[in-house]
Amino acid sequence: MPSRIIDSPRNVDLSDYDPDDTDGVKHKEADALQAKLEAKLQRQQELLYGAGKQSVLVVLQGMDTAGKDGTIKHVMNGVNPAGCHVWNFKVPTPEELAHDFLWRVHQRTPANGMMAIFNRSHYEDVLVVRVHNLVPKEVWHERYDLINNFEHLLAHNNTIIFKFFLHISKDEQRQRLLAREDDADKAWKLSVADWQERKYWDDYQAAYADALGKCGTHWAPWYIVPANKKWYRNLFILQTLTERLASFEKDWSAELEERGKQELAALHAANVHDET
Ligand code: AMP
Ligand code: MG
Repeated sequence: MPSRIIDSPRNVDLSDYDPDDTDGVKHKEADALQAKLEAKLQRQQELLYGAGKQSVLVVLQGMDTAGKDGTIKHVMNGVNPAGCHVWNFKVPTPEELAHDFLWRVHQRTPANGMMAIFNRSHYEDVLVVRVHNLVPKEVWHERYDLINNFEHLLAHNNTIIFKFFLHISKDEQRQRLLAREDDADKAWKLSVADWQERKYWDDYQAAYADALGKCGTHWAPWYIVPANKKWYRNLFILQTLTERLASFEKDWSAELEERGKQELAALHAANVHDET
């Protein structure tokens, strides 16, 4: 199997990747591992926030039912909501359509110290837009380069970018759609469009393969997440986030310490304590 990390342009064939994979991890080990990684991510986010030097952008893409919502719910469990925004990108409004395709996403990119999660993203403009011919090919084809440049700009401005493709099989999608019909708590998620979109499965897989292959860069890598098993999907994403963020921890801690010292010194100099 080729690497699940796409950090330089290459041809991607999604059929090379098994959505059922768990990399040898057993389900019964998952809970303990997940708790450990959640605690790690929580600590990293605190440091990110306190240091205020970098930001983190997490892009979630995948077919309907791939688990974008579930990932946000489970993976971000321990993350402090004060330091994290979730943005959902739906069918563009007339105002959004009257601008360039990056306009709406650029307004939602994370500020220093913050984390942002994109539930769908600018990639829809080379996915659904391509599959349904919403703009001519010359227009969407140009967008891969535009996206790479845009993400380069963000990375240049200290945004650490993770792009996760939640990879499920066509059969798994069918099971999940049917399960929604049987579960009163999940039925609200049903939409006729999901079954209609499913007819374009192969076109979407091809569009995804191109998006991943053309927009996998070292400053904004794509990760192909085996997502048929929800517990492994969550684990894989937590592992990926915490592993890469670990390289910043020392720097962020040093920054926090330095800022703490400065504040204390300023406090002493100002002599603001009163007598009572
Ligand atoms: P959901 O994520 O199920 O709430 O659905 C959101 C819908 O918005 C999906 O069907 C997306 O394909 C669609 N969507 C998101 N971005 C765009 C876009 N730029 N152009 C057209 N449709 C979009
Ligand atoms: Mg949907």
